[in-house]
Amino acid sequence: MNSDRRTFVAGNWKMNGLLDEAKAFMDAFGRNPAEDVVEVGLMPPFTLLHPMSERLAAMGISLGAQNVYYEDKGAFTGSICPMMLRDSGCHYVILGHSERRSIIGENNAQIRSKMTASWLHGLEPILCIGETLEQREQGITNTILTEQLAILKGAPKDVPLTVAYEPVWAIGTGVTASTDQIIETHAFVHSELQRLGHDARVLYGGSVKPENAEEILACDGVEGALVGGASLQADSFMAIVKAAAKVAS
Ligand code: PEP
Repeated sequence: MNSDRRTFVAGNWKMNGLLDEAKAFMDAFGRNPAEDVVEVGLMPPFTLLHPMSERLAAMGISLGAQNVYYEDKGAFTGSICPMMLRDSGCHYVILGHSERRSIIGENNAQIRSKMTASWLHGLEPILCIGETLEQREQGITNTILTEQLAILKGAPKDVPLTVAYEPVWAIGTGVTASTDQIIETHAFVHSELQRLGHDARVLYGGSVKPENAEEILACDGVEGALVGGASLQADSFMAIVKAAAKVAS
């Protein structure tokens, strides 16, 4: 794990946010208060990417999308390609979020195709991995994470990559993993990444909020947070960014 890189706090708005709400959020959030030590990113829905991109850049906030399709162009009604995301000002794209795996049925092979297409067009994937509660209770968490990370086998090594470890049972539930579970699992994810030859930044995700952010971000191996619900309000997202800055300084 590279200790020189900035902590990354990324907000995943999921299917939330209208134009007026986005403007109100940006008015209330202001600038990234700790740009030297914390990178802040926002992943709003597709419809808000272009309208938010210029202003977010001026606020010192990186922009990302929540999904992409792996073809370049053509008859793929309803899909968005990597170049369209670049055109809208995106640097990041979330791939393999558990909601897309479980609700839309996305599999590792499709996620791998999306990852390859993203790299080809200069996007940095935020690859989400994580086990369900049933899998944790069966003691197969590491097996699941290994399977999900196996899509990196044979991938180029000199590509930008962020990984978000998000236990599925902690996403949107208000339950967070214990600090022991976070430290242990992040150590495993870092060792797997090393084995695969990728020095990716590893974030934690799952009900991160102002009240628990400092404790989570201080865990060994945690290099930032992917935040869902608490990123929708400027004050709670700002509180998490400030917690990250406190831990990083
Ligand atoms: C997420 O959507 O990636 C997430 C972690 O959501 P929440 O913070 O709401 O649990």
